[in-house]
Amino acid sequence: MRPQSSSSDALTGRVIRRGDTDYPEASAGWNLLFAHSPQVVVYTQETADVVNALTWARRHEVPVRVRSGGHCLEGWSSVDDGIVIDVSEMKSVSLDVEAQTATVGAGLNQLEAVTALGREGFAAPTGTEGTVGLVGATLGGGFGLLTRIFGMASDNLLAAEIVVPADDGGAEVIVADEAHHTDLLWALRGAGNGNFGVVTSLTYRVHPLTQTIYVTATWPGLDYLPAVFDVWQRSAPATDSRLTSQIEISRDAVQVLGVLVSGSKAEARELLAPILAVGAPEITMTDASWVDNYTAFQIPTADEPANWKFLSQFASTPFPREAIDLICTFMSNAPTPQCNYFANAFGGEVENSEPVGGSAFAHRNALFYAEPGAGWGLRGGPPATADPLTTVCLKWVADFHEALAPYVSGAYSNVPNADSVDYRIDYWGTGVDRLNAIKAHYDPHHVFSFEQGLSTPDD
Ligand SMILES: Cc1cc2nc3c(=O)[nH]c(=O)nc-3n(C[C@H](O)[C@H](O)[C@H](O)COP(=O)(O)OP(=O)(O)OC[C@H]3O[C@@H](n4cnc5c(N)ncnc54)[C@H](O)[C@@H]3O)c2cc1C
Repeated sequence: MRPQSSSSDALTGRVIRRGDTDYPEASAGWNLLFAHSPQVVVYTQETADVVNALTWARRHEVPVRVRSGGHCLEGWSSVDDGIVIDVSEMKSVSLDVEAQTATVGAGLNQLEAVTALGREGFAAPTGTEGTVGLVGATLGGGFGLLTRIFGMASDNLLAAEIVVPADDGGAEVIVADEAHHTDLLWALRGAGNGNFGVVTSLTYRVHPLTQTIYVTATWPGLDYLPAVFDVWQRSAPATDSRLTSQIEISRDAVQVLGVLVSGSKAEARELLAPILAVGAPEITMTDASWVDNYTAFQIPTADEPANWKFLSQFASTPFPREAIDLICTFMSNAPTPQCNYFANAFGGEVENSEPVGGSAFAHRNALFYAEPGAGWGLRGGPPATADPLTTVCLKWVADFHEALAPYVSGAYSNVPNADSVDYRIDYWGTGVDRLNAIKAHYDPHHVFSFEQGLSTPDD
């Protein structure tokens, strides 16, 4: 494919600078716990705008961050006094029904991707929150309610167009696919966020999908938590791979949510029978298209807390009773109703198959992904620094994560553990050396560098 490189160092696209009317919105991320003041945000409309932005940043020696959906939990898709290259307005979709592939612009969020593909009777696996960027979720792995049948989002990534630093001090466009830049494709499947370049479009394997059953089972209070958790962790990662389920625990309730692909309500009830037999949960089941079910469980951003801290963990053996008791204790003492403990079942296709050429995602053998999470504060309310809940919530979630440390291993780069010293090993295990070599090849001057990037200049 091309390489196309730039000789221009003018910024093109929708360029927002400090003082512009749109600057407050353009400089804010989703998690209001973090605030940054970049000198410029460029909303790129086409790949050439990305080439120009990267070239400009290099020639002017301005720090670069890349952004799509803006949900980076630690605020690392922005930077004080730097340039944010924001691809969120690059929203093309091109579906090849015959080949069962789709090439999409890197600006789609997950709801837009689910909707665009679903309208044509297809799906690619994504995460569950519609406003999260598809590219941000995919480049770190990407699990959700279709994971056990179709694998991680990144397992379905066949190719990516990416703007990388060029030897002449500018930028060039390359395509990583199963025949070209194969090492880079491997790296983009799980370690691509902010590390190598700016992904401008992604090509996915897509799957015919028209009908799903969405199930929720809710147990008020925490009395049934030990029994529900134990049965869930032993059955959910091993059941029919058409069923993926999650457990979500707040201080007021335990909920199991699941999606059965191409099945009936009776079948969903049968597959979930061991879990549903605990106590007398309130059960809902909706038989609908994937788009309708996915759309129905979205929560508008305005209704979500302003501030968040999630920490990530993977479990490869079932939690013993002591670990489940710790979850009970911490959740009983959760500082806000939005604090939670969340887990997503793995197994199925994640465990059974890797994409051609492999993937940097290192947690294929996990039974489940889990995260203690704290949410607090109102959007439009006082900043996190003025909210006494900030200290309380940060301590609660850090203590919770630490208490479970003996029972978990690894971490998920999309949900960074910012205080981890060994974060590279936690995220990518034995793949770290290969990733550092790929980094050295594509970005030898560390143009793409952030708090937990691959080999930063300080290493
Ligand atoms: C509420 C919530 C729910 C979530 N649920 C899930 C879930 O169900 N499953 C799951 O797997 N994850 C989940 N996540 C984690 C999510 O996958 C990551 O936060 C994801 O990286 C966010 O992507 P973004 O594009 O929205 O964020 P951004 O802040 O735009 O970017 C995130 C990272 O990706 C980099 N990046 C963005 N665009 C590009 C690009 N074009 N090229 C190269 N790098 C880029 C950024 O530099 C940054 O490092 C959730 C996160 C939140 C906040």
